[in-house]
Amino acid sequence: MNRHRLLEELAESYKSKHKKSEEIFNRASRLQVRGGSHNLRLFAPFPFYAARYQGSRVVDVDGNEYVDFWQGHFANVLGHNPQFILDTLSAYYREKQGLTTGIPSPHQSELAELILTQIGADKIRFTTSGTLATMYAIMLAKAHTGRDMVLKIGGGWHGAQPYVLKGIFTYEKGFNQLESAGLPPGVDSMIAITRFNDEQDLEETFQKFGERLSCFILEPFIGAGGFIFSTRSYLQRSKELTKEYEALLIFDEVISGFRFHPGGVQALYGVKPDLTVLGKAIGGGMPLSAVAGREDVMALCSPEAKAGKRVKFDGGTFSAHPASILAGATYIRHLIENSSRIYPEIGRLGEKVRTEIEAIFESFGFSVRCTGYGSGIAKNSSLVGVQFLHPGYDRHITSPEQVWDPDICDVEMREKMFKLAMLEEGFNIFHGYGSISAAHTEQEIQDSLAAVERIARKWSQVNRREA
Ligand code: PLP
Repeated sequence: MNRHRLLEELAESYKSKHKKSEEIFNRASRLQVRGGSHNLRLFAPFPFYAARYQGSRVVDVDGNEYVDFWQGHFANVLGHNPQFILDTLSAYYREKQGLTTGIPSPHQSELAELILTQIGADKIRFTTSGTLATMYAIMLAKAHTGRDMVLKIGGGWHGAQPYVLKGIFTYEKGFNQLESAGLPPGVDSMIAITRFNDEQDLEETFQKFGERLSCFILEPFIGAGGFIFSTRSYLQRSKELTKEYEALLIFDEVISGFRFHPGGVQALYGVKPDLTVLGKAIGGGMPLSAVAGREDVMALCSPEAKAGKRVKFDGGTFSAHPASILAGATYIRHLIENSSRIYPEIGRLGEKVRTEIEAIFESFGFSVRCTGYGSGIAKNSSLVGVQFLHPGYDRHITSPEQVWDPDICDVEMREKMFKLAMLEEGFNIFHGYGSISAAHTEQEIQDSLAAVERIARKWSQVNRREA
């Protein structure tokens, strides 16, 4: 395939349909670094700018309409702008409430109770972003254990905060690079990396560093690392090893919390961490995150904690913002009350998309494997990654190393070509597909598969012409 030409054609076609977005982007580029504040949103040649969002759909400023599988960084389990959240917030604002006050909102306890009951934790504290929440969780672990090192997964993303900015996206036959300048001196040696779902590597890493580790932080369902569930035995082994070496186990359920089950992956597998980090869905579309966990560890953020152990998990002008708390409590209550209907349905659609995308590409001679598959226990997976494998590599994808190794997966095809090709068909995807929400209809899913088939057919013809 002359992929260079194909990519050019796709970009040209995209540009011709997004004139207003291009103008907005050009202005943004004069004012903001690279034209925005979140690099993932700034795909090439430039992002489209949204005019309206509702449910599964986004309409951009040029009038193009997309079925959206990006869904607010996968936060929107119920689709964009659910009416009941808009109604709740509108009523709140009409009562002249909802902007920041600096005075605690009475709804905090409702949301706290809903979350704590679901995940079976003792105490919770809210903040604004997943990034801050993982940072606070690690600070708690460091204070609790009196140790400095953090163990994380290669390919694990926990936000851009100094304790975890290593081994995420930069793949050089392994994940081992610092991902940022400006980090505290010595931080490189303070972050150890282990391979996802690899119990032997985990054991060896604990043998090597165990006595220096404050915590092991991991996503039980890894997101940026490729939409892969951990195995149950891996989580169990993580629990045993952290206990044995007296380090804390932190589950980052920023993506997986309330995505597959109200209690997160930890409830599905029956493995309880010392601390859980939540974000995304818990704000009901508003900025909100939380750390929840063991009473004795969480107590370290109290002003009454012992001197020298006290963690400044504190401050934040907008922390536990009243509108976020109200939206979050309303959203989470809805998810819990409707969980037996919502999760199996979006999981069923996820499974259909994964299996059918693989079959479609296979019928046109491409080797494609989807990620996001659940298991007997972790069913109902509504997240779908699409991995284009290089010829000769026909195995299932089970690790972030495979997802990001350009010798195994055609990363450009996944992240650039397929993205533009699906946009051309009216579908906004991410990492090959993205997240299915309760607002997506069976028909939209079917239409997206028909689009995949048209793309696969076209690409296979390009292939044959080249041969
Ligand atoms: N942890 C995980 C697993 C995430 O996926 C993300 C964001 O995508 C974060 C933490 C950081 O959260 P936020 O973007 O809200 O800062």
